[in-house]
Amino acid sequence: MKIDIMTLFPEMCQRVLDESIIGRARKSGKVEISCVNIRDFSGNKHNKVDDTPYGGGMGMVMSATPIYNCFNSLYNPETEQKPHLIYLSPKGKTFTQKKAVELSKLDRIVLLCGHYEGVDQRVIDEIVDEEISVGDFVLTGGELPALTVADAVCRMLPGVLSDEVCFTEESHFEGLLEYPQYTKPDTWMERKVPEVLLSGHHANINKWRREKAIEETFKRRPEMLKDAKLSKKEQEFLKTLLKDVGTDQ
Ligand code: SAM
Repeated sequence: MKIDIMTLFPEMCQRVLDESIIGRARKSGKVEISCVNIRDFSGNKHNKVDDTPYGGGMGMVMSATPIYNCFNSLYNPETEQKPHLIYLSPKGKTFTQKKAVELSKLDRIVLLCGHYEGVDQRVIDEIVDEEISVGDFVLTGGELPALTVADAVCRMLPGVLSDEVCFTEESHFEGLLEYPQYTKPDTWMERKVPEVLLSGHHANINKWRREKAIEETFKRRPEMLKDAKLSKKEQEFLKTLLKDVGTDQ
């Protein structure tokens, strides 16, 4: 898979993308990620890529032409399909694990990072395929959201994590939050690791983990449970949790 990040701050992204699991995935060729500087497409000697908003008001707006030319430099429309272009925006649809899985199936995505007051609407209407938000808050730029999306998508690519179980059992993959995790030592500050995890009995450990995942989800994000895939026994277990809090559902 190839990911291009269109940004005014390529060094900011590059630094993060060189590190840890994503850095290794790039080095081993499991994913190709490039950062392209929109300023290189300013088309003027002052490298100006923004201007004041029509209608007045605070701040600056990123101009349409540098973004348009930057995007067009990424592919040849005569021989290649237009890559799927995502504009990171607080007005977009909220990013989810499901979206990360969906995007990981594409051959190529391009992530457009806005800055200042955002981007001229006309270039969004002309070339953007979808807008993604990383949450209901406003950041100074689209770089952190773009890195968030790139990271979550890369983790879903074959071979990036050591085993699929690393993500299939994780929070949000199957509509549940993850069970609690523990590592050595088995007693810390007089707090013991649950006995079952030391038993070596895999069936019991799996059952405990599933039940804890249901319990965590029930306590923290009960609205998620309506879409979770639970076995008959797990549904019974959930009913006992509901009874314990006296909820009649
Ligand atoms: N004026 C815009 C508004 O009110 O919707 C906010 C612009 S914000 C200061 C600058 C850039 O940061 C945006 O163009 C976008 O690329 C990025 N950004 C900020 N918050 C974001 C979020 N929650 N999700 C995705 N991108 C975000």
